[in-house]
Amino acid sequence: MPTAERIGKNEALFREVNQRIRELNEAFETSGAGELTDFVCECSLEGCREYVRLTLAEYEEVRTSAARFLVAPGHQWTPESEREVGRHERYWVVEKLGAAREVAEREADAP
Ligand SMILES: [Zn+2]
Repeated sequence: MPTAERIGKNEALFREVNQRIRELNEAFETSGAGELTDFVCECSLEGCREYVRLTLAEYEEVRTSAARFLVAPGHQWTPESEREVGRHERYWVVEKLGAAREVAEREADAP
C-alpha cells in the first residue's frame, strides 16, 4: 500500500510535467483557445502512462488549487486520501484529503 507521502510525491512529479507541457504550448502557441492538449494523468498509480486531453483553460482551472489533480476517467484509486470533485467526459478532477493534501500543497510550494 503506497503511503500518502509517496502518493503525493508521485503526483506532484506528474503535475510538474504538465506544467512544462502547458508552458511549451503557451510559448509556441501550438494550441488555440479551444484546442485540446495532451497532458499526463496525475493519478497515484505507479506506472500509469495515460494521457488526458484538456484545453489550456480547463487545465488552468484545475491548477487553481494545489490539492487538485487531473486524472483519466476512473483513475481515482485511493478514496481514503482523495475525492472526486469533477467528472468530465475526457478527464476527472480529484482533490487530495488529509496527509496526501498536505504533501501536495507542500510540493507545490517547493522551488
Ligand atoms: Zn492514471
